[in-house]
Formats: sequence, C-alpha cells, structure tokens
Amino acid sequence: MTRALIVVDVQNDFCEGGSLAVQGGARVAADIAALLAARQEQSAAAPHYPYVVATRDHHIDPGEHWSSNPDFVDTWPVHCEVGTSGEEFHPNLMPRTFDAVFLKGRHSAAYSGFEGQSDDGTLLAEWLRTHHVAAVDVCGIATDHCVRATALDAVSAGFRTRVLTSLCAGVAPTTTRAALREMEEAGVRLD
Ligand SMILES: [Zn+2]
Repeated sequence: MTRALIVVDVQNDFCEGGSLAVQGGARVAADIAALLAARQEQSAAAPHYPYVVATRDHHIDPGEHWSSNPDFVDTWPVHCEVGTSGEEFHPNLMPRTFDAVFLKGRHSAAYSGFEGQSDDGTLLAEWLRTHHVAAVDVCGIATDHCVRATALDAVSAGFRTRVLTSLCAGVAPTTTRAALREMEEAGVRLD
C-alpha cells in the first residue's frame, strides 16, 4: 500500500518566537527533518514513504480567523501572513524534500490541509489519489487544530490514516487530549 507523509504547518509563526508559538514546534521541525534526512539517505531504519508532502497556512485576509483580541479557540493572533517570514517553513525543517506543498487559507481559516492547493491548483486529496496513495501518516503543528483537521479529513476521504504523535506539537494539553481521542474515535491510528 502506497503511503505518504503529510507534514502539517511547520512554519515560523507556529514555532518558538512566532506570533502563534506552539511549545515544542522547533523540536518537532528538527525531528521531522531528521526523518526526512534518513529517508533521503535511504537508511534502512527510515520509514518508507514514496511521497512526502507539506501543508502551509497561507493567509491574506482570513476574516475572523485573525483577531486583535483572540480567544485561541476560534480566533487567533495574526499569523502566517503571505509575504512575511512567519509564513515560511521553520529553518530546522531541513532537508525539505517535499514532492508537493499545499497552501491553504488565503481568505478562510482552513485548518485542514485538504483545503490546500498545490502550485497548479491541485487539491491534496486529488494529488494523493493521482499518485495512488492509499494511506497517510500525518505530523506537524498543531495536534489540536490543523493536524486534527487534516487527519479527520484524511480518514473521511478514505485514506488509511495514522498520526505520528511524537512528531506533533499541540497548543494546549486539554484540547490536545480531546483531539487525540476524537481522531482515534474517527478511525485514525495514533502512533
Ligand atoms: Zn491560520
């Protein structure tokens, strides 16, 4: 079964020092990079992923997703604004051996990577099907928001879905625990 790795939103604004910093974000970036390096070197210990794709929050004007008085549930400080360094991949995320990058949220919240489009406008689910991908592993930031939404969409789109919890960082412990439970109940395997 062809399995792809989906790296969710490992961007400067979601890591330490960013406008919406998630504790552990920079560490997750480095750990994912180590996995990508092992894959590139075709190390026997590396999990085999024929494809690795990434998603990125890519906001121009996402409406009420941004707020000057955020509740950190539905509204958030300005983050991942197109053209800012906050929107870039975190520098720890090297090498970036992505087969495609899916940008999401130009004018919406777009928590799920499945709302993202590649350079040529291909949606993530369509791209995965075109490449005969039947299973996905999801990692990145944040467990309780964009990883959660991406994994739930993956499983409901019919992909065999696993979340690599050691390669994820969450905004808050309570919502992270709830998200993990919700994903598991939806049929996502937690590793
Ligand atoms: Zn956002």
